[in-house]
Amino acid sequence: MNKLLIICLFPLCSFAQSFNVINDYKVDYAVASKNGRQLIAWRSFSNNDKNYLLLLDPQNFNTNIVPAGEVSLTKSEFADVAKLFVNTAYIKAINAVRKNDLGLQNVGIDHALPPEKGINLTIDLCPSHKPLDRIIFTSLFTEFAKIEQPVPLAISVSGRWILKHKDDLNWLKTLETSNQLDITWVNHSYHHEVNNLPLAENFLLARGTNLDVEILENEKLMLKNGLIPSVFFRFPGLVSNQKIVEQLLDYGLIPIGSDAWLAKGQQVNNGSIVLIHGNGNEEIGVQDFIKLLQQQKVNIKNKQWLLFDLRQSLE
Ligand SMILES: [Zn+2]
Repeated sequence: MNKLLIICLFPLCSFAQSFNVINDYKVDYAVASKNGRQLIAWRSFSNNDKNYLLLLDPQNFNTNIVPAGEVSLTKSEFADVAKLFVNTAYIKAINAVRKNDLGLQNVGIDHALPPEKGINLTIDLCPSHKPLDRIIFTSLFTEFAKIEQPVPLAISVSGRWILKHKDDLNWLKTLETSNQLDITWVNHSYHHEVNNLPLAENFLLARGTNLDVEILENEKLMLKNGLIPSVFFRFPGLVSNQKIVEQLLDYGLIPIGSDAWLAKGQQVNNGSIVLIHGNGNEEIGVQDFIKLLQQQKVNIKNKQWLLFDLRQSLE
């Protein structure tokens, strides 16, 4: 049903074209009407003198790019958009985060319970000199072949990872086009700064952090590389404070935490948002994930343990 909906709503393409010369990229809220449906326009930009919008369906978190001329627009403030779409999954998620945005670590949504048994897999690609841990993905195909195809998962990309790993990124994209993976692309900041200071001054809380650069430049880089940014954001190190969460929400983004960071020995439960790093720097997490797949082998075969699409879990 969801898949059908996406195809009808966004007949242009299910894969982003590459936008190489993006100008005037900005947060720009409007209510967009397309084919009788109301959507949220949340970014606008031009590429080669053509204007585009990044659209969000607040019912199901799907995002896509359309030429600006294809929709009719009513310019809005975010507060008005939030009022109009108050009963949608997206605004409910934003309000849930706003109510709970305390603490330095793991703020945001860290658990999403679908009706069946399984997990939401999120793989972080922080800056790294090492190659992608392709074994994570090849193991998924092996175990989920004929069970779930494409395999849904979320990948959080940092700009500095994208810049250094063209081949690995292209490999992931071919797995999308060959319908083996259904990837939700999550913004993981452009620089992904990390230092030796306490958490309160580390990652995005480091002095001198420019959120426009960390958020919007990374979205532009994603678009340039043919990735459609989702409305989700993963804080580097899962570190944030109340102020930065409020700022993130103003960009229309929803922070995604994790209740099962495998390398930290956290327990996996049904509906867990599982976190592993696929950037070559977290061998233990990758091994633990392969072990988890082996443990669930029989359940996977019997469709008693599935991977969920984060967007659908949050509906
Ligand atoms: Zn990271």
